[in-house]
Amino acid sequence: MLKVAVYGKGGIGKSTTVSNLAAALAGRGLRVMQVGCDPKADSTRTLMGGRRIPTILDALRSGAAPALEDIVFPGEGGVLCAEAGGPAPGRGCAGKGIVTAFEQLAALRAYEICRPDVVLYDVLGDVVCGGFAMPLRGGYADVVLVVTSGELMSLYAAGNICSAVREFSQYSGLILGGLVINERNIPHEAERIRAFAEENQLPIVARIPRCGLVQEAEEAGSTVVARFPDSGQALVYQALADRLIGAWGGGIGGRTDAPA
Ligand code: ADP
Ligand code: SF4
Ligand code: MG
Repeated sequence: MLKVAVYGKGGIGKSTTVSNLAAALAGRGLRVMQVGCDPKADSTRTLMGGRRIPTILDALRSGAAPALEDIVFPGEGGVLCAEAGGPAPGRGCAGKGIVTAFEQLAALRAYEICRPDVVLYDVLGDVVCGGFAMPLRGGYADVVLVVTSGELMSLYAAGNICSAVREFSQYSGLILGGLVINERNIPHEAERIRAFAEENQLPIVARIPRCGLVQEAEEAGSTVVARFPDSGQALVYQALADRLIGAWGGGIGGRTDAPA
C-alpha cells in the first residue's frame, strides 16, 4: 500500500488534483482510497457525483458508533471516499479533528478491510501545525507531494510544508516527492517556480495547465479524467498517476480484483 499526502495552500487546486489523480490511478486498475483532510470537507465531491459525503467527525458527533460504511463511500471508478471533516466554526482544533478521524479509520480497520493499493490524503497546508502535520507522523504517509502555483502565498506555504517534511524525514522513512505545479498563468510564473524549486532542491513531479475542462467537469459533479478521458488535461493527470506508481509504487498495480 502506497500512502501519499498531498499538501498545499487552500484553494490552490489540491482536491481537483487529488481527485483526478485518484480517478487516473483507478483507471490503471488500482484500488484507491481518498481521505479529505480539510475542514471544508469537499475533497471527494467530484468523485461522488457532486455530492458531499457525511464526514467522519459528523458521524462521531451524531452519538452512535459509526460503521465503516457510514464513513467510507465508493465513488467514481470505485475510488473509496472519506472526509475527516472539522470542528464547528470557531470551536475546537481542526488538526485534532484529523487525528480523531484517522484513529476512527484505524479502529474500524478501514485499510485492512478495503485493502487499497494507494491512499491519497488531501491535506490543507496553510498552517503546518501539529494537527495538519499528522499525516506526516506515525507512518500515515510514505510520500508527500506539494501542490503550488507561482503565486507568492502559495510558494510561501509550499516552503513551510517542505521544511516540515524535511524535519520529519530525518527520523522516519518519509519521502518529500516534490512539487506538483498547478498553473495559474500569472506573469513570470515559470521563472518563479524554477527559482523556488532550485533553491529548495525539489523535483517538479508534474505541471498541470489551467484548463476550463476542470470547471466543466466540476459543474457536472465529475473529474476531468472521467468526463473528458481523451482530453490533454486527462493525460496530464494520468501521467502524474504513472509517475507516482513508477517512482514510489514498488511494484503495485495490475491487480485483477480491483473495482471496474
Ligand atoms: P483546494 O482543494 O486546494 O482548496 P480546489 O481543488 O478546490 O482547491 O480548487 C479550487 C478551484 O480551482 C476549484 O474551483 C477548481 O475548479 C479550480 N481549479 C483547480 N485546478 C484547476 C486547473 N488546473 N484548471 C482550472 N481550474 C482549476
Ligand atoms: Fe489546531 Fe492547528 Fe488550528 Fe492550532 S492552528 S487550532 S493546532 S488546527
Ligand atoms: Mg480542497
